[in-house]
Formats: sequence, C-alpha cells, structure tokens
Amino acid sequence: TNINRFSTAAAVEDLITPQVSIRYTQHLINGQFVDAASGKTFPTYDPRSGEVIANVAEGDIEDINRAVSAARRAFDEGPWPKMTAYERSRILLRFADLVEKHSDELAALETWNNGKTYEQAAKAELPMLVRLFHYYAGWADKIHGLTVPADGDYHVQTLHEPIGVAGQIIPWNFPLLMFAWKVGPALACGNTIVLKTAEQTPLTALFVAKLFHEAGLPEGVLNVVSGYGPTAGAALASHMDVDKLAFTGSTDTGKVVLELAARSNLKPVTLELGGKSPFIVCEDADVDKAVELAHFALFFNQGQCCCAGSRTFVHENVYDEFLEKSKKRALRRVVGDPFRKGVEQGPQIDVEQFEKVLRYIRSGIESSATLECGGDRLGSKGFFVQPTVFSNVQDDMLIAQDEIFGPVQSILKFKDIDEVIGRANKTRYGLAAGVFTKKVSTANTLMRALRAGTVWINCFDVFDAAIPFGGYKMSGIGREKGIYSLHNYLQVKAVVSPLNNPAWL
Ligand code: NAD
Repeated sequence: TNINRFSTAAAVEDLITPQVSIRYTQHLINGQFVDAASGKTFPTYDPRSGEVIANVAEGDIEDINRAVSAARRAFDEGPWPKMTAYERSRILLRFADLVEKHSDELAALETWNNGKTYEQAAKAELPMLVRLFHYYAGWADKIHGLTVPADGDYHVQTLHEPIGVAGQIIPWNFPLLMFAWKVGPALACGNTIVLKTAEQTPLTALFVAKLFHEAGLPEGVLNVVSGYGPTAGAALASHMDVDKLAFTGSTDTGKVVLELAARSNLKPVTLELGGKSPFIVCEDADVDKAVELAHFALFFNQGQCCCAGSRTFVHENVYDEFLEKSKKRALRRVVGDPFRKGVEQGPQIDVEQFEKVLRYIRSGIESSATLECGGDRLGSKGFFVQPTVFSNVQDDMLIAQDEIFGPVQSILKFKDIDEVIGRANKTRYGLAAGVFTKKVSTANTLMRALRAGTVWINCFDVFDAAIPFGGYKMSGIGREKGIYSLHNYLQVKAVVSPLNNPAWL
C-alpha cells in the first residue's frame, strides 16, 4: 500500500509563491527578441497539471540560419573575441550578479516549467549557476599558450584562440545548469554561441540570455533559439558555419548529431549522454546512511538525472536490512506540488517521460523483479509517479540495462568485490558510480576499477564548477566544467619563427 503523502491541492500557507511572470517567449537573435521566421509557436507546459503556460516561438532552419549569421558576424567582426580577456571576465561577473538579483524569480520559473522542487532550484541550482560563472570569469584572463622548447634554430609558441561559433543543444532536466555548463566556458574563451534549448523547457534560458545583454554582452554573441530537435536542433548540428558543437541529451540523439556534424563540416563534437550508474553498498556500510544516500542518488530530481545511481548493488550480508529500510524510505518520500515546502518530489517533465517510466515499471513486474512499493501514477492530474522500489533485480532485465529517467530504484544483490566490479562495468554506459564503504582499501580498489567519468565515494551528486563531468563509453565524448571544458572551446595555433635570420632570407 502506498503512503506517500501527495499534495497538489496544498494548503495555501505552505506554498512558496514567488512573483513570477513569463516575460520572454521569442528567440533572442542578435540582441533582439524576434518571432520565428515562420511565425509559428509551440506550447510549453506546467508539468504539475499538463496545462499550457505559454506559447513560444518555434525555431526551424531559417531561425537557426539567422542566429548563426548573427553569431558569425559577432565573432568575425564584433568586439567580443578582440576585447581584453579582463573585460570579458567583468561581463561574466556582472551577469552572475544579475542572476543573483533575479534568483528567486528564475528558480520559480524553472520550477513552473520543469516541475523540480522550488527549494532545490532556489537553494542548490541557482547558487551553482552563479558559482559557475564566477569560476569561468576567473579563467577568462588566464587562458594562454605555451613557449615550446623546440630544438635548433626556431622560436615556437602556441596561441590558444577561440574556436569560433559554438552550437549548443541542451536537455530539459536541468535547464539553467545545462545552459551554464555550456555557455560559461564558451564565453570565457571568447567564442560566440547559438544555443538551442530543449522543447520542454525554453523559458529560463531566454530570461538569463536577456540578463547577459543587460550585463554588457555585445549583440550576436549569445543567441538562443527555442524549438524541436529534428528541425532546429538538426539544423544547428549540420550548419556549415558552426565551428563546434556541444550536445547534452540521450545517447541515441548523440549519435544523430555526431553524424550530422560529420556529414556537414566535420565540426568537433562534445557529447554528454545517458547513464546507468551503479551505486555499490559494501558489506561494512552503515546501512541507515547507505539507504539514505542510495535513495538520494536515484530519486533526486524525480530520477531525471543522467548520472542517477540507478543500479543499487548491495552486499548480501546487508541486503535484507537495506531493502526493508529502502522501501520504508521510498514510502516516506513526499511527492506533490514542487512549490510546496517540504515536498521532495515533483512531477515528471511531460506525458512522454511519464508514460515511458510507467512502461519500464510494467517491464520490471513482467520480468519478475519484486515490486516492493510504488509502481503507479500518483494523483489523477499532472505527471506524478509513485516512488518505486524493485528488489531481486537481475543484470539482464531491461530495468537494469536501460536508462529509466524516473523515480524507480532497482536493487541488486552481490557477494564479493570482484563480482560487483564486473557487473557494475557490464553496461554500455560509463557516466558515474557511487561507492559506500568505510574501508579505504575497498574504496581505492573500486575507484580504480570502475569505468566511469565520476566516482563518488561516500557521497553522490557532488557537483562544482571546478569538477569535470563526462562519460566513458557510450555516455559521451569529452568533459564539461573545470579546466577540461576550456579545451572544447579553443583552437591551438603553433607559431614558428627562426631565432636568427636564416640563409634563405
Ligand atoms: P534528447 O536527446 O531527446 O534531447 C536533448 C536535446 O536534443 C533537446 O534539445 C532536443 O530538442 C535535441 N534533439 C532531439 N533530437 C535531435 C536531433 N535529431 N538533432 C538535433 N537535436 C536533437 O533527450 P531528452 O530525452 O530530452 O533528455 C534526456 C536525456 O538526456 C537522458 O537520456 C539523459 O541521460 C541525458 N542527459 C545527459 C546529461 C549528461 O550530462 N550526460 C545531462 C542531462 C541529460
């Protein structure tokens, strides 16, 4: 039986109601808000109810062409790549200040359009956005090449130059943070940008792009186009005048954009894709703490995290206790209106994701995993799903292999460390992994053996602007954040000149 407290019809006094209105729904191209070339719009929704909250300009090839020419002009002729790095840094800092000033409103808009809890958006994500721009503002004037100690008669140096026009395609699960991870390093390096938001969540990127212009960003440097993937997204990925493509989304779409980039102008591509991350609870673990962390690792953000700890491996000696307590914890999870205080889980993003999650739950039941709790929708309106726990999950079940992207925890039993290493790595993904143990030697063994771009030991989902993030295997190509993402947005030019007048001069 389900005892999740559900509260869309929340007591009004419990609702956090920051003032928010939808100000921007057009594309932002060359510093101006403009309608789609076709005049078309598409609806964007409130996932709490499925109701339309705004109609947004629908981008297609022509809008992408306009945005790319604006970005091209801004790069080739505008002040941005030529101004001092210190000036660029100041603009990033002024932008961060404006984000801080509008933080409550931005968090509310993010919650309204995405369904994540307001507390998470306001207390965790907005501060991370600000921190990221501070971090990359710090880098802007510290990007420089090397003097190469070449032998012989030549002086050799490298120049680290911006790559040009960056095309960026982002998903809906962290609309503002994905904007930040892409835009921060690209601007710090002096590039110009055309960014396409996810069709589910177009609103906050338009708002912050406007703030960037208020902060003094020259027109055409950052262009934001809303629209669907196969139209606007594909046009951006295959554009001949885009010099670099950065994409975050599903592995299937990652393959599509990589191919579009290859078939057009062979632009370099970085990809942040899906995952099926193991969370390994060792024999010596404090079970109560492990339960809480494993719960967080999976259920955070409605389970809509590329790095979700979606295969919970538990040592057989603590398995029964872990299972009982995980089930109790999931049943205590508070699901409801994400604007309400104390709510831990809002709705899934949209009807497609909602139905997909329910299909995976059915598949888990059919493949004879044990449904411990949850398993259905919650309420009758919007896209809420009961926190769901499966035990007895086997490696070859679909729920243990595919990315569910929802509040569905799969618990698997293991006997020893070598076995769990093999099973944890037996996936096409390699985005992240979690390890829970008191033993340094076990942590060290697992940390080295796990094939994943991030290993969290006795913690999970710890993000910082300085910490690189990205995937092994089919979870992606390249790294974002930290010093590593700068390389995505720079060209290296080797400059060679004779030390003395050579004979031929
Ligand atoms: P998706 O791949 O369908 O969409 C992501 C973006 O790609 C959207 O902007 C979409 O419009 C665009 N797109 C879709 N088809 C396209 C095409 N043919 N050409 C160009 N662009 C296209 O993914 P989704 O279902 O919206 O997002 C969830 C997925 O994203 C999950 O699989 C998740 O793992 C992944 N994700 C990964 C990370 C990461 O950092 N690795 C972060 C967040 C989400």
